[in-house]
Amino acid sequence: MKKTSKLESTDYCSYYASKCKECKGARRVWKNDIWMACGCQYIASVKWRFEQIDVFPPSLKYLSWKDFTGDIKAVHGGKSQISNQLDMSTFIHAKKEVLKYCFNSSDISVLDDRQNKSAIFERYAAGDNIIISGSKKTGKSLLATLILKEVVYASVSTKNDLSFEWISWNELLEAARWDTDKPINSEQLYLWSDIDFLVIDGIARQGGHTTPPDLVALNSFFVRRRHLPTIIVASTLFVYDCRHPIRSQGVEYKFGSELLSLISGSNNFMLALLNTVEKPDSVRLFLDILEEQGKIEDYYKANEYKSMRNRIDHEIKEKELKERENRE
Ligand SMILES: [Zn+2]
Repeated sequence: MKKTSKLESTDYCSYYASKCKECKGARRVWKNDIWMACGCQYIASVKWRFEQIDVFPPSLKYLSWKDFTGDIKAVHGGKSQISNQLDMSTFIHAKKEVLKYCFNSSDISVLDDRQNKSAIFERYAAGDNIIISGSKKTGKSLLATLILKEVVYASVSTKNDLSFEWISWNELLEAARWDTDKPINSEQLYLWSDIDFLVIDGIARQGGHTTPPDLVALNSFFVRRRHLPTIIVASTLFVYDCRHPIRSQGVEYKFGSELLSLISGSNNFMLALLNTVEKPDSVRLFLDILEEQGKIEDYYKANEYKSMRNRIDHEIKEKELKERENRE
């Protein structure tokens, strides 16, 4: 169920009008011999829509690009402290990849000229997906929120309505399952399948502790999304499963072929957020995927890549040796 927000859409409209130099609170302007809704009203309605989406946690909505620092925060005794950091190479790559998705450029200075640099409509026309993977508390959802904010900016600056929505993996599975006490929520699935930019947050191997989703419903949902941008937020392991020749069969069996082909599509934008204490297997998986896609050079300088590869291979070898010792 949707929480009702304290501020209604009309409150937003009055607020933006009250600060508007063009209509000075009147909400309308006299143009070409007729009264027209002032531009501030359009901004108000898009901002209001952004307020209504169920981003989790809601505080993410108020963060900006400056807040994606690579620091991983944890709350200790009521205080937020830095508990860990993202692996530097994957942090830099992640930021570049999301900027590229939004602006076709990985240079942070594009933010000063959003209006001209935005690539959001290009992503929309091409139906480009982005797969954000990583372990817990690494900033995956923050990046997804930053993308939706760019969708809001693009809508406002061009006055072209783009719809956007944020749903959780569990909500999607719940809508797509049926049981003796509930039917499939086809209407909801249909509405979500039609959203221009849809974030699906928290995709993981487990999920749904009840009856499994109906694969016909889930497949047709993703078929309808084939030409619309989907922003996937998933665990590294789930993405790994989708790309593994054998494990991917398990994904297909549980969640259908369409989700599998969405996540493993080779045209996707893709990134993984890994922390410095990440299991080296995850880092190796990420590098393997980049290599398979022939995208290593997009992300790493040759020497940087080589030393990272060496470090990871070394760490994995050490780990295997230790495990063997423990067994003996
Ligand atoms: Zn106005």
